[in-house]
Amino acid sequence: MNAPALREARHRACPLCAARQVTGLRAMRLVQPSGSPLPGEYDLVACDVCDFVYADTAATQGDYDRYYAHCAKYAAANASGSGEAASDNRRLADAAERVARLLPRADSPWLDLGCGRGGLLAAVARRGFDGGRGLDPDPGCAALGARQGLKIHAGTLDRVAQLFTGQRFELIVLSHVAEHLRDLSLLQPLREQLTASGRLYIEVPDAGRYGEHPRTPFYYVDSEHINHFGPASLQVLARELGFAALALERFVLPLDDRSGYPALALIAGQGSGVPPAAPEVVSHMRAYLEACERQAAVRIEPPLPEGREVLVWGAGSMAQRLLGLGAFEGLALAAFLDNDPNKQGRQLAGRPILTPAAGLAAHADAPLLICAAVEHRQIEAECRAFGEGRTRSIHRVI
Ligand SMILES: [Zn+2]
Repeated sequence: MNAPALREARHRACPLCAARQVTGLRAMRLVQPSGSPLPGEYDLVACDVCDFVYADTAATQGDYDRYYAHCAKYAAANASGSGEAASDNRRLADAAERVARLLPRADSPWLDLGCGRGGLLAAVARRGFDGGRGLDPDPGCAALGARQGLKIHAGTLDRVAQLFTGQRFELIVLSHVAEHLRDLSLLQPLREQLTASGRLYIEVPDAGRYGEHPRTPFYYVDSEHINHFGPASLQVLARELGFAALALERFVLPLDDRSGYPALALIAGQGSGVPPAAPEVVSHMRAYLEACERQAAVRIEPPLPEGREVLVWGAGSMAQRLLGLGAFEGLALAAFLDNDPNKQGRQLAGRPILTPAAGLAAHADAPLLICAAVEHRQIEAECRAFGEGRTRSIHRVI
């Protein structure tokens, strides 16, 4: 795989510690659907001062806000965080246990920022803690949450102080949110929203362990995951926000295909913190990126038949990254299929993004290439149901 050249000039200093001594690691190309406010490329760079790796993107926080309000997948049925997929349910039950441990009383007020369709709020409520409220930039998530009796506000993080004026929470949760934030300074006002004994819980992918759970090349790097934290940089984040890092927990989240996803949680608050963690993420990321680079070209199993137009199931991060890596060069792509209403009607790499029903009907015999990191069994079952009586071959990107 040929990586594009790194830019000579940087768009920004380290968003965590403001250091300007940063080193380019790899230029990433991530082909965007039409209408996306995000650029199709950025440099992944390392801050050697605070052991943080981040996307040196030209996009502003406003671009990201528009993206998450109109282009992201979290309002879609079965979206991550909804609790509708089996693995998501297990993950949310585990997360609910970690969250409930931090709530002093059953009616303790707590806030889930970037709550999606409210899967975690519902899972914590099922454990008897009913003081939860959520915030998500996608208005569709708020509407869906309301239908389940969950209190979800539509809005971006910069509206927290305004939306919750005068309110103090016992716990504020950012579960798989901080890795998405271009401007980490958006978290600064959270201190004012916590009680004196309140806790901040931040869970992110564990960038010190990507290599232990390898998937398709560069799986952990996409347009949404633009911050790569480890224990040391989460401690820096806690300090920057005016907290001590009271605990750091490493665990593995279950995925649908029985593989695992490395995660890391910070529990921050007032008090004495844990000893400083050793830097590890920058060196780990260098090794991980080199391993991805060495990995043979993406495999498609079983091999696609020659000379046929191909339907691709999935127009999300994986397809965008594979297109950017040139993995689909030489394939005649008919269309992309995606269940996410925010993607339907757009184009990706010049091909339409259709609902699965429309795409499968319009291309009745086209081989189908599943391009999704998880849920492939469910997708296969869905395709077989649509394609009953048809001779459609189904293929996977490995
Ligand atoms: Zn830094």
